[in-house]
Amino acid sequence: MGNPEVAVFPGDGIGHEVMASALTTLDALERRFNFRLSRTVYEGGAAYYRKSGKDLPDGAFEAARAADAILFGAMGLPDVRLPDGTEVAPHLRMRESFGLFAGVRPVKKYPNTPRVLADARGDQVDLIVLRESTEGLFASRGRGTVEDDAVARDTMVITRATSEKLFDVAFSLARRRRTQGVGKNRVTCVDKSNVFVSMAFFRKIFSEKAREHADVKHDYAYVDAAALDLVRKPWEFDVLVMENMLADILSDLGGGLVGGMGMAPCAEIGLEHALFQPAHGSAPDIAGQGKANPTAMLVSTAMMLDWLGERRGDDVLVRAARALDEAVTQAYADAAVLPYELGGSTGTEAFTAAVVERIARCPCSC
Ligand code: ATP
Repeated sequence: MGNPEVAVFPGDGIGHEVMASALTTLDALERRFNFRLSRTVYEGGAAYYRKSGKDLPDGAFEAARAADAILFGAMGLPDVRLPDGTEVAPHLRMRESFGLFAGVRPVKKYPNTPRVLADARGDQVDLIVLRESTEGLFASRGRGTVEDDAVARDTMVITRATSEKLFDVAFSLARRRRTQGVGKNRVTCVDKSNVFVSMAFFRKIFSEKAREHADVKHDYAYVDAAALDLVRKPWEFDVLVMENMLADILSDLGGGLVGGMGMAPCAEIGLEHALFQPAHGSAPDIAGQGKANPTAMLVSTAMMLDWLGERRGDDVLVRAARALDEAVTQAYADAAVLPYELGGSTGTEAFTAAVVERIARCPCSC
């Protein structure tokens, strides 16, 4: 098996800055753990669309399909729109075309970062929002209707096939966290099954799957109650699995719980492909100032290494992933970093240097 091929798309705005951080960190990991990724960097995004009329260069989409993993910064600029008025977002095309149905969005509070919640248990927040990413209400994207300027309709789609795959991922995630000593060995199904047939169907399939994964606990929450409890007692959750639109909202709430979008990583996983990117956008308001928080990008990169390692049975990559995670956590724990986003004055490069330094002296017990 050759080196894993990674298609790299820095994108727009701070996408370039956080991607530079990820690539520098990968260089350090390759040195420390003696492995190599074949990385190819592609243009693409809103600025590229403005100059070329295309969201990606010719061949880049297919190169992403052929790669072992895709690493994304952020794409889109508010003043650049496609002819239909929507934002330039080739990663959404990839999501659909590559079947990336499982959006894994960790919400983790890092040491020494400001506590958003007054309760000291807010420091223990460590949960995952698992977002179904190819159907749900987003299945209506580009298909909604408006009749006579009087009634608008968007349709929710839940399929058994995708839901079953999604719940398998949810239970596997909880199990994997348990083996790593993280989480509560529990999956919570978040829905609105008391109102919508589609959501009752979602819950029914979840219950069926829960019986197959009996070693992992499960429970249920209506989305309104889940939103309340995410603010009141988020430390009680482990893996929360839900439909696309519900997760779109609750995962941003999760980012807010731990300091902001720069703390919100994301892995978009399918059966054959996976795309890793921070959940934040290109942040034009701070782009070019060196102030972007690279945490979400670096944790997404660790998730990529972990996914590649698991998939290829390559323990070196799994250890490198753990070392990167540890180095980020340790940089916060040592009070060596506090990004601007969290009220500190650590810029992107200084943050990266702190992480690289910790990777270099990682004891290798990772
Ligand atoms: P999109 O719709 O593309 O997700 P958006 O406009 O909703 O984008 P972001 O670009 O994510 O939002 O920015 C939201 C806010 O969070 C902005 O104030 C931005 O500066 C801030 N922000 C986002 N990511 C980071 C980061 N990595 N570091 C610091 N601040 C960030």
